[in-house]
Amino acid sequence: MSKVLIVGGAGYIGSHANKLFTAKGYKTVVFDNLSTGHRRLARWGEFFKGDLANPADLARCFKKHKISAVMHFSAFAYVGESVTDPAKYYRNNVANTINLLDAMRAARVNKFIFSSSCAVYGVPARLPMPETLPFAPVNPYGRTKKMVEEILADYSAAYGLKYAALRYFNAAGADPAAETGELHFPETHLIPLALDAAAGLRKNIKVFGSNYPTPDGTCLRDYIHVTDLAEAHLLALRYLEKGGASGGFNLGNGKGFSVLDVVHAAEKVTGGKITVVMAPRRPGDPPALVGSAARARRILGWRPSRYKLETILADAWRWHRKTLKERTCQK
Ligand code: UDP
Repeated sequence: MSKVLIVGGAGYIGSHANKLFTAKGYKTVVFDNLSTGHRRLARWGEFFKGDLANPADLARCFKKHKISAVMHFSAFAYVGESVTDPAKYYRNNVANTINLLDAMRAARVNKFIFSSSCAVYGVPARLPMPETLPFAPVNPYGRTKKMVEEILADYSAAYGLKYAALRYFNAAGADPAAETGELHFPETHLIPLALDAAAGLRKNIKVFGSNYPTPDGTCLRDYIHVTDLAEAHLLALRYLEKGGASGGFNLGNGKGFSVLDVVHAAEKVTGGKITVVMAPRRPGDPPALVGSAARARRILGWRPSRYKLETILADAWRWHRKTLKERTCQK
């Protein structure tokens, strides 16, 4: 039986996809260099330790396993860091992705699901954002995702690659059974930082910008549950398997929450008090990003089920408490 290769399956979103695909009867292989992922989160299917920067690792992996499709979660995703260290982002997110695509070509594997991002659109002209908006990223991270999407279109036209570029809005939450979840060191994302503050692991949470043109002056984001993202990957693979046309799909809930909304919801879910400190804007942050997922709904049949902010936070909190010791040790 052929297998699905999950590149970055020891990381946050990839580990949730691995759990779901395994539950649905797929055989999986995780390919990961464990630079930021965790071996114990790659707990389903098989594991292959390898580095995308090393084409020989990829060749060995494709030789060892009969792969029918590839999902690629292995990218750096911190907007702020991409501004201060763009080389790191272009090398890993673009050059290493070309290594992966070329290894697929050599092994004659032509189905690819790419973790793209709403960051490809930059500061959108309208909300909620459809896929017809032009690509106009405003930070190096978004530019890496745009570049890869352009490469995918060219590889599709020239080499017959079949792909789905899934443009995530803000991935959040954790496996409801708390078998996997977000575990980044250092952490920069809003929700885990807010939960750290609620748990007493940090004194406060900095709010990056309070004079944006939004209802409360803080940035609006569309938070989408990581298990709903995993489900979209399953539907996208089935769609490609049935001969669906390549293209991009927005994955969001269509509702924006401000930074302060998230902090208040985190207080409610955890019962903790979170001290907020207003801070300057973070370079590269658009004021509001809210997605229309009408296309994914119509073409893939995708219906997010864990869309409530409270559900997202409650799931994240369950995982957070389970991993509190590790988080404390990192302090
Ligand atoms: N944010 C914040 N304080 C933090 C971390 C994030 O105010 O300590 C804001 C950030 O400016 C953005 C939103 O929270 O508007 C979500 O940021 P995050 O880093 O979680 O995800 P991103 O939008 O960068 O993918």
